Amino acid sequence: GKVILNGEMMERSEAVIDMEDRGYQFGDGVYEVIRVYDGNLFTGEEHIERLFASAGKIKLDIPFSRDKVLSLARQLVKENGVKLGTVYMQVTRGTASRSHIFPDPSRTKGVFSAYTTEAPRPEKALENGVAAITEDDIRWLRCDIKSLNLLPNVLAKQEASGQGCYEAILHRSGTITEGSSSNVYIVKDGTVITHPATNLILNGITRQVTLKLCAENNIPFSEKEYSLEELRQADEVFLTSTTSEIMPIVKVDGRQVGEGIPGPVTRKLQLLFQEELNK
Ligand code: PMP
Repeated sequence: GKVILNGEMMERSEAVIDMEDRGYQFGDGVYEVIRVYDGNLFTGEEHIERLFASAGKIKLDIPFSRDKVLSLARQLVKENGVKLGTVYMQVTRGTASRSHIFPDPSRTKGVFSAYTTEAPRPEKALENGVAAITEDDIRWLRCDIKSLNLLPNVLAKQEASGQGCYEAILHRSGTITEGSSSNVYIVKDGTVITHPATNLILNGITRQVTLKLCAENNIPFSEKEYSLEELRQADEVFLTSTTSEIMPIVKVDGRQVGEGIPGPVTRKLQLLFQEELNK
């Protein structure tokens, strides 16, 4: 398929990234994953806004406007004939001889790249729910930035996968923050609870959609800290992300959540999310 490198569409085999690209050497860049449903970007503007916000927080100048990035993403989806899949895009601080110090911005431009994937919805998992483990959150203190540095997330996810689990739920000294690549929620006595959007989590676009759906449908919710203990005592647990949508978690560290099946509040939110996609 085709990819975009800087402003240009080309065959993937023709795209060249330099050995001294700062994304490759330092993880010095930011990224986004946007879902494609029926050939359309879902919450595309929100993802691009977050890409620019992440870039701003690391003082990285994206060499295109928001509108240009959006139109490049749409062109790529169309060109590759993607109906159900994703667009991955990232921007690095560019190519310069290796030094921690930022390169001179008058000589080095950010490197923008994007490609698409075909990706089905995880239907079986959405129906039956998944298992998760808990892990120490060993990440830095700017988890609000969607940066390319994902080593702690990779290690946590690998640990989950090795134990036959879908996700690792992270906690800082017993306070649940989020998943290795998702936001995490508990439901207690009908109220949805999730960590507030601080520097300790990524404010997921799916999280924002989920909380909007709660607000619009009189589902009580609270953005507040909750503990590992509250996770264990929860009536329901679920996670959200661009690719996982609203995913029930029915087992944590080998122990059943509630009855061990997706709960009514999670189901309701899944239905509302489906309606949102149909809009
Ligand atoms: N937290 C982390 C650490 C993530 O990597 C992701 C996936 N991008 C999310 C939360 C969920 O964000 P979104 O709903 O925007 O995909």
